[in-house]
Amino acid sequence: MSIIKDDYKESFWKIASEIEKEIEKIENAKNVKEKINEIKKKIETLKSGFLSKKGIIASLLNQLSKLDQQQRKELGKEINEFKQEIESFVKSITEKIEEKEKELKYYTNLDLSVNYTFKEKGHFHILTIVQEELMNVFAELGFEIIDGIEIEDEYHNFEALNIPSDHPARDMWDTFYLQNGILRTHTSNMQIRILEKRKPPIKAISIGKCYRRDNMDATHSFQFHQLEGFSIDEGISFLDLIRTLYKFVGKYFGVNSKVNFVPSYFPFTEPSAEMSVSCFACNQQNSQCSVCKGTGWIEILGCGMINPVVLRNVGIDYEKFSGFAFGMGIERIAMLKYKIPDIRMFFENYLEFNSLWG
Ligand SMILES: [Zn+2]
Repeated sequence: MSIIKDDYKESFWKIASEIEKEIEKIENAKNVKEKINEIKKKIETLKSGFLSKKGIIASLLNQLSKLDQQQRKELGKEINEFKQEIESFVKSITEKIEEKEKELKYYTNLDLSVNYTFKEKGHFHILTIVQEELMNVFAELGFEIIDGIEIEDEYHNFEALNIPSDHPARDMWDTFYLQNGILRTHTSNMQIRILEKRKPPIKAISIGKCYRRDNMDATHSFQFHQLEGFSIDEGISFLDLIRTLYKFVGKYFGVNSKVNFVPSYFPFTEPSAEMSVSCFACNQQNSQCSVCKGTGWIEILGCGMINPVVLRNVGIDYEKFSGFAFGMGIERIAMLKYKIPDIRMFFENYLEFNSLWG
């Protein structure tokens, strides 16, 4: 005769399977957290109903004392097996509900909102990048870098540079007139300003914004940037100019670049030349090249020996000292190097364009 009536086992497994089903369907609950707490309470009730000191197992064990040894042995074994079944079920169901609780916590804390501030790192404008690149190259070649003023007087922008008011070259450098001066047409004004204060030897570059009364088109702008460089000392020759520019080209456009000089005219240099570099886009190999227009050469700067008149204007003995100077447009260099087709793109502030160089 068994004292563990079948209905004890039956009622235990009935409640146990109900709890299991509830855990399986827990995701469908309106309030999962509430449901978890509800199931946890049911597990506790089941546990205390069967396993506590006043629970069913304890009362069954109490009843063993009334039985003889043989029955006690058999039923004791049976009760213990039932107890172990209950314990192992409670253990596994508790683990399951704790796992569900962990999942709930994870999904509750997960931030799926899109309401946040987009943090993009800032970066330099392409013109600043090119200016930095050029400054680094010239610094390596021993040039000091001088800052400059943009509002200038006519003397420092024109007369001192051998462009008197009746000079036809003034048309080329027509600019904007302000009440307190003019907007400088080139960075050469700084050559004058530095030489008024310091005596040779001096080797420097000046880089910055310039203005001319040009109509905007793909290659012209009323505002642009220029790099002016000069070196003045005793015995400076045209060969020093070529050597310096050749080194610059090698460092900036590549060691295999070639240079070509053709005579030109500027009021502030004598003799003057325009320098081209061999095309770095097609390496002089493509007659259809869009960068060099198939010529194999790209004109990048004007240069020459500083006109003795300019040296005299700043009080330098031109019989003792000589110097060279060169100037290039930063936009032109950037357009060539980074294949930018239109100068207006630099100043239109389109984010799509600006972010290309970030
Ligand atoms: Zn080319």
